[in-house]
Amino acid sequence: MTDEKNPWEWSEAEWRGRVERVRAGRSYRPATWKNGARCAVALSFDVDHDTNELRDGGKSIGAMSRGQYGNRQGVPRIMSLLKRHNIPASFYVPAVSALLYPDETRSFAAEGHEVAIHGWIHERNSVLPEDVERDLQMRSADTLEKISGVRPVGIRTPSWDFSQSTLEITRDMGLLYDSSLMADVDCHELLLDGVETGIIELPVEWIRDDAVYFNMARFAALRPYTPPEAVFDIFRREFEAAYEEGGLFQLTMHPHVSGYRSRIWILEQLIELIRDRKDVWFGTHAEIAAYAKANAV
Ligand SMILES: [Zn+2]
Repeated sequence: MTDEKNPWEWSEAEWRGRVERVRAGRSYRPATWKNGARCAVALSFDVDHDTNELRDGGKSIGAMSRGQYGNRQGVPRIMSLLKRHNIPASFYVPAVSALLYPDETRSFAAEGHEVAIHGWIHERNSVLPEDVERDLQMRSADTLEKISGVRPVGIRTPSWDFSQSTLEITRDMGLLYDSSLMADVDCHELLLDGVETGIIELPVEWIRDDAVYFNMARFAALRPYTPPEAVFDIFRREFEAAYEEGGLFQLTMHPHVSGYRSRIWILEQLIELIRDRKDVWFGTHAEIAAYAKANAV
């Protein structure tokens, strides 16, 4: 088995095959965005709540109280902010979160936001057998459709963890897009073993994710922690450069990470700063992926 060889002993076919399993293909970058906008802004919220603890096989009451905070405090703060500014966003909801808080999931759709796939219980795709991953991804879509009333067209894999089979499953499900990979700043097509899939990637990055700056190891003395002002500054620079380039600004946040009194202002000030530029289009990930696919130059 080639797998048992050391990496420096692999044949070219082995290392090249690994790299090319899933790859960024042609760019889908429109000359202008909807209504002639210079820049597109895609805000997203991963509604993990209690599933981060459950996924690890845990039953920590404390960890799940923080998950419940996401539902009781985080989501309402985010929803009122989006409503005040009349901005659509994408909510990636693990099926178990939707089953725990069905009214919340329904409210996302009712207020004009996108509800999209984020795994069953925030499982790690790369450790699952292919048939199990396929079953969970399909059941997640069915569960979200049943609760929200809308069939999801996109997926963000939990923890952006991509297995060797994920893209194949996504393609077989006929989804429009994925938003879990990092090969670009603009929308592009994903290739599977070098073959076009028609799936649009709306790329993410840890740089544009609140969790990496604010999460901590509960039982370590060290608290790696970026001040909210610094997080705002990073997000602002990411947006301003996207605006200058006429590209896409995509952001990932979590209700149980950013929905706090001392942090929610980051999103508010960011929205105000973006709103000051008149030629920006706020769309859901599904709207932006569809627009990019239809209008690429
Ligand atoms: Zn998540």
